[in-house]
Order: sequence, then structure tokens, then C-alpha cells
Amino acid sequence: MILQISDLKVYFNSPDGLVKAVDGISFELKRGETLALVGESGCGKSVTALTIMGLVKCPPAKVEGSIKLDGKELVGLPDEEYRKIRGKRISMIFQEPIASFDPLYTIGKQMMEVAMTHLDVDEDEAKRICIEMLKKVHIPLAEKRFDEYPHEMSGGMLQRIMIAIALLTNPDIVIADEPTTALDVTIQAQILNLLKELQQMYNMSVIFITHDFGVVAEVADRVHVMYAGKIVEKASVKELFKDPKHPYTKGLLHSRVKKEYKGKLLPFIPGNVPLATNLPDGCRFHPRCAYAMDICKKKLPPEVNLNGSSVACWLYAGRDAR
Ligand code: SF4
Ligand code: MG
Repeated sequence: MILQISDLKVYFNSPDGLVKAVDGISFELKRGETLALVGESGCGKSVTALTIMGLVKCPPAKVEGSIKLDGKELVGLPDEEYRKIRGKRISMIFQEPIASFDPLYTIGKQMMEVAMTHLDVDEDEAKRICIEMLKKVHIPLAEKRFDEYPHEMSGGMLQRIMIAIALLTNPDIVIADEPTTALDVTIQAQILNLLKELQQMYNMSVIFITHDFGVVAEVADRVHVMYAGKIVEKASVKELFKDPKHPYTKGLLHSRVKKEYKGKLLPFIPGNVPLATNLPDGCRFHPRCAYAMDICKKKLPPEVNLNGSSVACWLYAGRDAR
């Protein structure tokens, strides 16, 4: 187990009250696997990622629970120590490649900064490593591109370069937050293939954040579905597509755009993700759930284990496979 997260809570104060962005989630990441975190926007996926990266500032935010990297506790770690881990042992790839680069500096300069900070090498060696990495992410004419500026690159190329930067230090974990959402469909497939290729090459663990089940099917080994700050279902990709359990998961899978819906109204989950300042009592999905019972409105559902997968829903209570 490279990463172990237990009962993680991330709360913020806002003018509208306390925001429970992440509210008691637990999960583990194995070496070499890809875990997808799935859910609509506002479910707490990105906050989870930023918290693991140590990028949530406390105060004003409050982080509770435990994040263990290879057994070492990260919650409460002073920032100067977190800086040695962030970008070295855990890297992140963001959604908008263009926003992640400084327009005033060349690609090479921005890569060199990361290499010089985290790798114990001289400038010539750092440059050699950076150009090597550009070649690994299939940037043509890498030596020439190294001296060019971000605006001279396409979105797909910038995303490759961001992946190259994330991998420069050979991290244990890469967190990819919607890395293909801003790209054209054809480029998306190339980036997903590249990530798969590099993951095998480096045997790294990946947390892949997405709202797109097509992407999940492509890249993930296991899936955790998040809703309103909680994980509501955990399963292998195969199991999730074959036999989704939580009504929210079923709704998400059902509302994918499919060919047979052509010319018809698309199915969707009624209502919206609740505001994190105003969460419903009981199961947070109950106002949108077609199966909601009385107990769902009053009590949080327990996490029920079912042969390798788990689901937090009253429909499955008492069916634990122990
Ligand atoms: Fe629906 Fe109740 Fe299950 Fe929540 S606990 S998903 S409201 S059936
Ligand atoms: Mg997000």
C-alpha cells in the first residue's frame, strides 16, 4: 500500500457557513494501480487531490484524519517538509495545461526549475534529463521545443509537457485531475494512452479524477464514486460496470450519452449536488434518490462490504459479506 487515507475531513469556513468539502473518506492506493475518483463537480474530488498534495492551507481550512504515504503521516506536516514530498514523491497533472505554465518562461526553464529543485544533479545533467523526458512523452524535436514558450505549443502538447514535468522526479504517485477534459476527443485518447504507457514504464500509482465513465473504463483498475464529500461506492472497474450498486452510481452510468438515445431525451439524475454548506440529513443523496426510504432521511447509511466492493446505502444494510 503506497497511500492510506483514513477518515479524512476537509472543512472551510465561508460567508454561508461551514463547508464540508470532504467529510470522512477512507481509501487505499496500491503500488502500480490506477484508482479513479468519479462524481459530478462539487463532490469533493479535487479538494481530496489538493489535500493529498498538501496544497490546502490550514488555517483557514481544517484538515482532520490521516493521509499516510508509505507509512509516513502527512496530515499536519510543516510546509517546508511537504515541499520535499510534493512534486517529488507525489505529482499532479491539472485540467488546464495552459494555466499551469508561466507564459514568460520557456518550457525548458520551467522544467529545469523542477529538476534542479528535486534532483541532486548539475545543470547539464538536469537539461539532459528534461530533454530525455520530453522525448518519452513523444514531443517531436524535443531539443528545439525545450527553448520555446508555452504559447508556441498546442493544448495537447502542453498536456504532454505537464506530464513530463510531473514524471521528472519519478514520483510514487501521480494525481491526474480531469487531465483530458479540456482537450479534443482525438487528443484525449492520445493522452490516456501516453499515461498508460508511462505508468507501466515507471510502475507508478495513479489517482485519476474524472466525471467521465468512458475515461474510467479506459484507464482505471478500481473506482471510487464520490457524492457530497463522501465515498458512496468502491468497486473494481469490471464490477462497477457489470453490477453498479449505489443508486447514484446507477444514475451516473445511466446518464452517459449513448447512441441509442439519438433523437430522444437523455436520462439524467434529477436535482443537483447539495451545497456543502447545506447538506441534507441522513443519506446525502436522498433528495434525488428514487429508492429513498424513511430511514434514508434520518440516518447516514453504513458502509456495507460485499465481496471486494463496498456501498454506503440503506438498501444493502445487513448484507455484509464477512
Ligand atoms: Fe437512496 Fe437511501 Fe440508498 Fe441513499 S441510502 S442511496 S436515499 S436508498
Ligand atoms: Mg474538480
